[in-house]
Amino acid sequence: MRPSALHSLKHTIPRPYWLDTDTPAQACERQTGDIHADLVIVGGGFTGLWTALLARQRMPTGRIVLLEGRTCGTSASGRSGGFCAPSISHGVSNALKRWPKEAETLIRLGRDNLDELEQDILRLGLEVEFERPGKLNVATTPWQVEGLRALEHKYRRHGIDCTWLEGSTLKPYLDSPLYSAGLYEPNYALLNPAKMVRELRRACIEHGVDLFEHSPVTRLQALGNGVLLHTGYGSVQAPRVALATNVFPSLLPALRTTVIPIYDYALTTEPLSQAQLQAIGWDRRHGIADSGNQFHYLRKTADNRILWGGFDAIYPFASKLDEGLTQRPETFVRLAEQFQQTFPALADVSFSHAWGGIIDSSARTTMFTGTTHDRRVAYAMGFTGQGIAASRFAGATMLDLLDGQDSHRTRLDMLNRAPVRFPPEPLRFIGVRLAQRGLAHEDRSGQRNLFLKTLDAFGVGFDS
Ligand SMILES: Cc1cc2nc3c(=O)[nH]c(=O)nc-3n(C[C@H](O)[C@H](O)[C@H](O)COP(=O)(O)OP(=O)(O)OC[C@H]3O[C@@H](n4cnc5c(N)ncnc54)[C@H](O)[C@@H]3O)c2cc1C
Repeated sequence: MRPSALHSLKHTIPRPYWLDTDTPAQACERQTGDIHADLVIVGGGFTGLWTALLARQRMPTGRIVLLEGRTCGTSASGRSGGFCAPSISHGVSNALKRWPKEAETLIRLGRDNLDELEQDILRLGLEVEFERPGKLNVATTPWQVEGLRALEHKYRRHGIDCTWLEGSTLKPYLDSPLYSAGLYEPNYALLNPAKMVRELRRACIEHGVDLFEHSPVTRLQALGNGVLLHTGYGSVQAPRVALATNVFPSLLPALRTTVIPIYDYALTTEPLSQAQLQAIGWDRRHGIADSGNQFHYLRKTADNRILWGGFDAIYPFASKLDEGLTQRPETFVRLAEQFQQTFPALADVSFSHAWGGIIDSSARTTMFTGTTHDRRVAYAMGFTGQGIAASRFAGATMLDLLDGQDSHRTRLDMLNRAPVRFPPEPLRFIGVRLAQRGLAHEDRSGQRNLFLKTLDAFGVGFDS
């Protein structure tokens, strides 16, 4: 353990940096008594908030109720990295690998969704530090360079703008002794996730959505003509319900084995000077990710900190959901050490914040949607670490499903087919462990082992 890594964490605040960029909104009231609505949305992260806002566009006068168990955005949405992808399929490679027949459509819809998301931000006047500076994918090992070259070819084949960078052309984008090549894609956005939650929530309230917080839904009961949702202090009856509860135990027990919680962690540095950023060649504002299975993601915040996250992806036995697990000293030390190896010029920089969050990982790394209860209840889940932009698409899809619409969204195989379910414990834990060992081995050697190849053959993947 490097003493300087420990030193850099000495004054680190154990909470998401984003929370300190925003004044917390006053919590909305609890849902009490027995009420009726035209549409109820459960969950107040990006998925639930987008669903409510898009529903308001389709239904200018109906009563829309959103029930959030805690306060909006306190889970994954408010603590994410803020990378806003032009993809609904966890990237182009994933679309081509798992959904080759509709990959072209998925790629186009992902780009359109990001365009529409930006238009919504402008139309609704959301102040969320949205910027579209692109993303740089970097490689460290020869096999990662090869992988990036393959990605470049895929991008070119599908008309995605990109620039190959190495040596002197890479240095003006990022100068690190670890990275030997890069692929820059200009179409990629970043935002401040806590501000995005706050602003989506504000827009919902301004557009007449009845938003209740600290109102966990404990039970979903089918009625002859609708659904009754029980909260701790009352109930809401509605003909249609959208479930946006992400990694939390689904109100539909049959879905509980379709995702597992993967804990992901991040640090932010203190604000850096122009000279410090120039020392690592990072004058522009693009986001960056390295290309391993265990990858880092890094970006600048509005006040020029570096957010440095990823690498460890921790699965706790029995899919335990525990806020205590979002602080993990050994991961923070590892991240600090890796930061110093990546940027020796910043070895004396301290970290201001350290936090973790829970990713809802599906066994094929893409979201999926569906309905139950005679199409009165729709759900969307399984974003697997890439849900900021995709959650908007998921919201629109749930509304199409509830409206009984046959749309370009509801026709997607990717959304209609549920992923392979995770086995019960202890098999689940052992399986995830074996997959993670295999992925780490592949990062070190460039070789994919038999276990991973077998999972590939069954269309099962593991990522964060
Ligand atoms: C550390 C981290 C970094 C990430 N970085 C990125 C990134 O850079 N880019 C990207 O695209 N994605 C990223 N993600 C993933 C992204 O944050 C998620 O995919 C996205 O926020 C999911 O939004 P959501 O609304 O579905 O879920 P959540 O934000 O988890 O919201 C679900 C909400 O439902 C509520 N809820 C659950 N059950 C009930 C119930 N019974 N009653 C009432 N309310 C309930 C919860 O309280 C919660 O507020 C990251 C995730 C993490 C954890």
